[in-house]
Amino acid sequence: MINSGGVKGYVFEADIWCPACMEEHLGRAGSKYQYAYSLKPASAELMLDSWAKRVGFKRDNEHSFDSDEFPKVILDQDEQEICKCGETI
Ligand SMILES: [Zn+2]
Repeated sequence: MINSGGVKGYVFEADIWCPACMEEHLGRAGSKYQYAYSLKPASAELMLDSWAKRVGFKRDNEHSFDSDEFPKVILDQDEQEICKCGETI
């Protein structure tokens, strides 16, 4: 598990996501992330941890997957990014 205190956002499917947008995206009914939706209400980190465990992605080794397959984290110490909602993270 990644220390969620240091996670300020995500890179996923060629977009930047703040935690709120990630939660909404994963939790959207009828999305291909139906499993994450079933975990609601839950934080993005909790949904991602559960999803990773279920599907077999190793979150502690981001080189083992592609950000098109599974979200990679943006940490506090990383460069500022702008979420698709306009929020600076
Ligand atoms: Zn956002």
